[in-house]
Amino acid sequence: MRYDVAVIGGGPSGAVAAAELTKAGISTVLIERNLENVKPCGGAIPLGLIEEFSIPDPLVEKKLSKMSVRSPGGRMISMEMPNGYVGMVRRERFDSYLRDKAERLGTTVIEALVKNIRQNGNGYTLHLSKDIPPLEANHIIGADGANSRTANDLGFPPNELQVIAMQQRFQYCERLKPYEELVEIWFDGDVSPDFYGWIFPKTDHIAIGTGTEFRKHNLRHLQQRFVEKLGIREKPYLDEAAKIPMKPRKSFTQENAILVGDAAGLVTPANGEGIFFAMRSGKLGGQAMIEKIRDRKPLKTYENTFRKLYAPIFFGLQALQSVYYRNDRLRESFVAICEDTDVQRITFDSYLYKKMVPAPWSVQMKIFLKNIYHLAKGS
Ligand SMILES: Cc1cc2nc3c(=O)[nH]c(=O)nc-3n(C[C@H](O)[C@H](O)[C@H](O)COP(=O)(O)OP(=O)(O)OC[C@H]3O[C@@H](n4cnc5c(N)ncnc54)[C@H](O)[C@@H]3O)c2cc1C
Repeated sequence: MRYDVAVIGGGPSGAVAAAELTKAGISTVLIERNLENVKPCGGAIPLGLIEEFSIPDPLVEKKLSKMSVRSPGGRMISMEMPNGYVGMVRRERFDSYLRDKAERLGTTVIEALVKNIRQNGNGYTLHLSKDIPPLEANHIIGADGANSRTANDLGFPPNELQVIAMQQRFQYCERLKPYEELVEIWFDGDVSPDFYGWIFPKTDHIAIGTGTEFRKHNLRHLQQRFVEKLGIREKPYLDEAAKIPMKPRKSFTQENAILVGDAAGLVTPANGEGIFFAMRSGKLGGQAMIEKIRDRKPLKTYENTFRKLYAPIFFGLQALQSVYYRNDRLRESFVAICEDTDVQRITFDSYLYKKMVPAPWSVQMKIFLKNIYHLAKGS
């Protein structure tokens, strides 16, 4: 069987790309190695994503507008989002909803591991597990996550910077009750020397996790310390871990193939947010593929559009991480700056709708001076 497009990986990026293509009448196959996959993930998504992709209410287990941030010294800053919320989803439900949607539109969904991809003339041959006969496709979308086989087989530049993150799921207990309607973030070298720790509530459990640069620190020890510091004695019922690729590959487009989501390295530094960018890149990539097939337009427009829209956000968050996540003294300064209501408003508005929100000159000046003050003072 020959398809116009083979999408490899059925996470958010692949499912959205496949739906976009099928809607436009392009013959599309989506290959996912495990339809029961539970992707290790906090499942925090912004309101803008929920609106743009019409995510149904029952999938959004919590809508949280309260957030607190904790410094290494124990300083707590409480914040409230006046104009929106962070949605909490469970990936096992979220991903299968997106895949089912693509399938209902007409995508052929196959459960199999893509073992290798070979270029053949103007197209590709895909070898699958489970003795499924090889598939032919004219175009490829690699949506197979941080360890993308597609990227390796097709010779894309490497995924450079990777954080590894671990998360544990706990049943609600007395100690965790206060977190039922609250997102809490810990900036603390004991919990993560170069990233942060999070507490994300869901309907029937709480997800607690932390991340750090790959192969630099002992992730399990960091997680253990976090749980101890929180005073939790109960055992988690699920441990999960995966890489987070927080740097776009040097290029994620070829003549007939593209990478989307984690496969392309599209997770923002500093906050490790990837679901929105996975779905947005899936949509933009799918649209570019349609234009390539119909009008012979180059696929490069996908990468150019993505970079034009989001490079400033990636750059800004990379700068923030490089300055403030280096040691506890700087983390203390960062949390102190979070107390400013203008900083909170700009941060939340940018997070919810992924737009750099311009602030009046006087506010920019005030924030700049506060940064200098707290950096110099160290708190
Ligand atoms: C611990 C942790 C917490 C996180 N928390 C958040 C959060 O709260 N909010 C947020 O926005 N982001 C978060 N992220 C990042 C987010 O999970 C990813 O950015 C997002 O899942 C990327 O989606 P994707 O579709 O590109 O890739 P994935 O979700 O990784 O999907 C890739 C899919 O491809 C399949 N696959 C892989 N190889 C093959 C193959 N050879 N053949 C067939 N199928 C294959 C996999 O089974 C998988 O289903 C977190 C990440 C981690 C690790």
